[in-house]
Amino acid sequence: MKVTDHIKNANGNTLFSFEIVPPVKGNSIQELYANIEPLMEFNPPFIDVTTSREEYIYVDKAGLYDKKITRMRPGTVGICASIKHKFDVDTIPHVICGGFTKAETEYMLIDCHYLGIDNVMALRGDAMKEEKYFKPTEDGNCFASELVSQIQNLNQGRYLHDDVQGEDRSNFCIGVAGYPEKHLEAPSFKSDLIRLKQKVDAGADYVVTQMFFDNQKYFQFVEAAKEIGINVPIIPGIKPIAVKRHLQLLPQIFSLDLPHDLVEAVEACKNNAEVRQVGVEWAIQQSKELKAAGIPVLHYYSMGKSNNIKAIAKEIF
Ligand code: FAD
Repeated sequence: MKVTDHIKNANGNTLFSFEIVPPVKGNSIQELYANIEPLMEFNPPFIDVTTSREEYIYVDKAGLYDKKITRMRPGTVGICASIKHKFDVDTIPHVICGGFTKAETEYMLIDCHYLGIDNVMALRGDAMKEEKYFKPTEDGNCFASELVSQIQNLNQGRYLHDDVQGEDRSNFCIGVAGYPEKHLEAPSFKSDLIRLKQKVDAGADYVVTQMFFDNQKYFQFVEAAKEIGINVPIIPGIKPIAVKRHLQLLPQIFSLDLPHDLVEAVEACKNNAEVRQVGVEWAIQQSKELKAAGIPVLHYYSMGKSNNIKAIAKEIF
């Protein structure tokens, strides 16, 4: 079922959902199942599965290093299919521009359609670790808005190069990313919002936000989005802080601001077990306020670990 239909059917109740990351190549999917299982009691209508882009590795060849391209966390569509059937839940593969040609994207979308996957998240992806700026892949999409258009074209039966006569069309519900504290590359909050509107105008059905730790930032973002005519659901993304290093890493990677009270509470912790507790309590407070405001879905970044998400969900759902 489409995310937008799940929201409609919830009749104003707040839904619980979360995002998982595929295992590193060579690791078993069982660990992923073990992390999903404890969260199923909160009835997530859908689970997101991220896609990671390729990266360079150096292979030792008799003392000479060969630069190779590899993808360390492959398997997004396969994981979506296996979770969908094992847990009887909708799964949402993340489709990214970086590292994929438009033709490869088309094939991935066709796989999803055959597997009965009705939703996709359309994202640009980040720069490769070794590169400072995002470089579009040759014959790939440059921005998420282009990817949304490609998916919508497929929904209309328009394939990339082929004159396809068949009638069996996909009907993907499309999610896109939004940034309450603006995307790190955007020159201004307003210009980033205009780019978000382009994604919605291209056919995105809903938005999921980057993590934020101050709900006011989310509420202001939703207001500003409405003012420029974005009228699709904006689902907040929530991440509990789990280790002290998040104080440096999260602002650096996502260009966001941590509230001073949270910073002080984390700094006062003697170990990461205490930090996890602080992170959970903060996320519970955020979630309570968002739920009270009637937000349709609260979406949690699990990073493959369920303990802290379960502790939050127990208090909220
Ligand atoms: P876009 O919407 O294309 O925007 C990228 C930047 O370009 C922004 O600064 C925007 O303002 C600007 N821009 C947009 N259009 C134009 C234009 N036409 N001209 C000039 N500038 C423009 N990354 C992954 O690799 N895998 C994942 O699975 C993944 N999942 C995510 C899930 C969520 C909910 C979120 C919030 C992020 C996720 N990301 C993921 C990270 C995301 O890929 C990065 O944040 C990326 O840098 C931007 O992606 P986007 O889709 O927002 O890009």
